[in-house]
Amino acid sequence: MEIKKLLDESNSYMMETYKRFPVIFVKGRGMKLWSMDGKEYLDFMGGIAVNILGHCHPKLVVAIQKQAQRLIHVSNFFHNDVQIKLAKLLLDHSFADRVFFSNSGAEANEAAIKLARKHAKSVRGEGRSEIITALNSFHGRTIATISATGQPRFQQGFEPLLPGFRHVPFNDVESIKEATTDKTCAIMLEPIQGEGGIRMPSPGFFKAVRKHCDENGLLLMLDEVQTGMGRTGKLFAYEHLDFEPDILTLAKGLGGGFPIGATIAREEIAKSFDYGSHGSTFGGNPLACAAALATLETILEDGILLGECTRMGQIIMNKLIELKDKFPNIIVDVRGKGLLLAMELTRECSQVVQAVFERGVLINCTSVNTLRFMPPLIVSEEDIARLIDVLSEVLSRLS
Ligand SMILES: *Cc1c(COP(=O)(O)O)cnc(C)c1O
Repeated sequence: MEIKKLLDESNSYMMETYKRFPVIFVKGRGMKLWSMDGKEYLDFMGGIAVNILGHCHPKLVVAIQKQAQRLIHVSNFFHNDVQIKLAKLLLDHSFADRVFFSNSGAEANEAAIKLARKHAKSVRGEGRSEIITALNSFHGRTIATISATGQPRFQQGFEPLLPGFRHVPFNDVESIKEATTDKTCAIMLEPIQGEGGIRMPSPGFFKAVRKHCDENGLLLMLDEVQTGMGRTGKLFAYEHLDFEPDILTLAKGLGGGFPIGATIAREEIAKSFDYGSHGSTFGGNPLACAAALATLETILEDGILLGECTRMGQIIMNKLIELKDKFPNIIVDVRGKGLLLAMELTRECSQVVQAVFERGVLINCTSVNTLRFMPPLIVSEEDIARLIDVLSEVLSRLS
């Protein structure tokens, strides 16, 4: 009864922006979550690619506890030691020289957009403010980032949108060339389109975009909010693709569950931000940085987790392919990289997600008919076997 009352309260107090499952989670450990009524769930959704180390990983818990006792927040008018350590570790493992810390993916992208415009103005003069992005992309929910996003469903009702974005089909270099004018300053892309249904880059696409950017003095900005932090088996997805971006954004997995975002860039671009150009009250505060530092250190330790991500990803992929062979009239395609995987269905997937949920496994549905799997990097073969059993049972009921 207590639970029913709480659910009613939740439904009456919160703005109705989310269609939530009727469950209240109170505890998590590793791959598992427990609801208030004591039911156990296996989490293949990972807080939408956030819980990269699983729930309440001991290293993350201890880092947050220790930092909370030492110093929680101090303004960016001052330096803080944890922010410095995190910056160094992050930059040492990337193409970039400098970082700006914020609190979310949308904010990290806002900073990237502002930096690209400011940089174009300082090196190339007035009038270069346009950014080319992809159709079917997702870059966040603020006005600037829904304007950047190439999906009308996130924009409708919020017009007027921010001017200065042009959308072209993903994986289409010719369209990028056609959309480039003397007003263009940058191209912003996800390495793999996450919310767009795990759409993979075609071979050579990013190298061709890089070449086009170099020839035309454009910045190449990568939104790795979903793909970054080891999700694809490397720390950053661009490492698979044989090119380097100019600006890259991170959030989701960065804090292992604690909110933090980052925008990283090469020195010559980063220096277009000067004193007062940009700021954030909370961005990079000691507690958030301690969480991100522990997360990043754990991912990088001996490369064990990155190797496991690739290995487990391959195991899930093979099993999904087996399911596709077994249910050819329901499953259209399976795709993905590392532990960012998708199964496209011939029908809407909400019914499947619901049936899987009722059997104690959490998965997610993206772009209407695509099931998405993004478990923590600590997922085991046993967990995978359970997922596949449940999926298989649900799919056979449907077929
Ligand atoms: C989730 C996501 C965002 C937005 O992140 P928030 O933290 O929700 O603002 C931006 N870009 C991509 C690729 C994402 O997956």
